[in-house]
Amino acid sequence: MDPLVIRVHPSDNVAIVVRPEGLTEGAALPGGLVSREAVPQSHKVALHDIAAGAPILRYGAPIAFTTRAIPRGSWVRGELLTIPPAPDLDELPPATAVPPPQPPLEGFVFDGYRNADGTVGTRNILGFTTTVQCVVPTVEFAAERIRRELLPRYPGVDDVVALGHNYGCGVAIDAPGAAVPIRTVRNLALNPNLGGETLVVSLGCEKLQPDRLFPPGGECSRGGETLVRLQDDRHHGFAEMVAAIMEAAEKKLAVLARRRRVACPASGLVVGLQCGGSDAFSGVTANPAVGHAADLLVRAGATVIFSEVTEVRDASHLLTARCCSEDVARDFIREMRWYDDYLRRGGADRTANTTPGNKRGGLANIVEKAMGSVAKSGTSALMAVTAPGERVKAKGLVFAATPASDFICGTLQLAAGMNMHVFTTGEGTPYGLAMAPVIKIASRTALARRWPDLIDIDAGRIATGEATIESVGRELFDLILEVAGGRRRPCAETLRLHNPLALFNPGPVT
Ligand code: CA
Repeated sequence: MDPLVIRVHPSDNVAIVVRPEGLTEGAALPGGLVSREAVPQSHKVALHDIAAGAPILRYGAPIAFTTRAIPRGSWVRGELLTIPPAPDLDELPPATAVPPPQPPLEGFVFDGYRNADGTVGTRNILGFTTTVQCVVPTVEFAAERIRRELLPRYPGVDDVVALGHNYGCGVAIDAPGAAVPIRTVRNLALNPNLGGETLVVSLGCEKLQPDRLFPPGGECSRGGETLVRLQDDRHHGFAEMVAAIMEAAEKKLAVLARRRRVACPASGLVVGLQCGGSDAFSGVTANPAVGHAADLLVRAGATVIFSEVTEVRDASHLLTARCCSEDVARDFIREMRWYDDYLRRGGADRTANTTPGNKRGGLANIVEKAMGSVAKSGTSALMAVTAPGERVKAKGLVFAATPASDFICGTLQLAAGMNMHVFTTGEGTPYGLAMAPVIKIASRTALARRWPDLIDIDAGRIATGEATIESVGRELFDLILEVAGGRRRPCAETLRLHNPLALFNPGPVT
């Protein structure tokens, strides 16, 4: 089977061109339609005559309105379209179409590292929390030496990671927005893949003092942290600072090395979903396949996190309807409203999201991108909504509010407790994280073939009819369990592609 175009929903008046070479002028399409002009791959072709001012329907929803009449067979270019307004936050339906639970999937396990707090690690990593960016190069220097000189003696430990960031001083630390980066740094230290054995490296004079980061007696003070303060009188020079970090690290390595993988139910998985470099195929191939895997994970008792506020804002009405309760719908609306205000303060709105690459990839605007993006969430009820940097405690499908920026979203999902990351891409990105394995899925076969050593799953086979949404979703579900259990390593992990952490700081700097 070699379809020329894909229509997602029966009511759609456009279809997406599948062939890598695009459509030529005069190409015969199903239903007697003839292409009036050349249309590039992943762009839209009009299936009917569309009047001026009429909606362009994709995913069965209006993604845009036309500025002039578009004859059938034409290329529906972005410049012929205007964007509809975002759904009104005061008019969203709360918990009006809650999907009933699907039958549970029993018996799916992976070999993970059990933590004292009930979470499960998929990797066994020593993490260095840093209170301020001043110490980051020193910690990275020490981490490099630890990897070279100490780690070979502790084969049970996967890696040593400096949780570097650009926060901690020179910031308005009492401003309301400061709560977000502070709790992010705190909760990153509690990520299940760090095993509760976090080391804290502080400078001494910074605004974000260790006690402020981990308040004594607080929920996050588990006694696992060990503190090295570089300005302490006992350190004479750089070499002694590095030696102090290495000495503290070795004690933690000895503890971590004694841990063993044990069979854990799939409910120990916390899988974060994200997309980056999306194209018009993302919403047809990769994201729906991820959505199917998300449904399987939810049925197996796992936690599935999706995020990226500006990429769900235009689907708010669909998501509040799926919330399991009116309270959860209110939480969702609260996060959307907060982000609308945040963008407005910066003189922007949700339309600032799309990139030149998205548009080249056939996405007309943020509405089209959002409708494709939410396909990642599958069909389950939305069980909880968390603010940026908060830990996710619920099982099932959870919305963790984050910016769509790949690096900030990934960082905030790690802070939420993610122990596995799934990333879909259309244009391609060599993205990766140090703290959790990243499985990458291409929306098009051409990308998967061009980047065979960076892409783990080719969802483009769905467009060409070689695979189905269900079969690729199941493939991903199985791969997640294998990677979580340490039996396989995805491309980004094998290549050690570690994008730096990127905090979300909505507060002022000083
Ligand atoms: Ca993203």
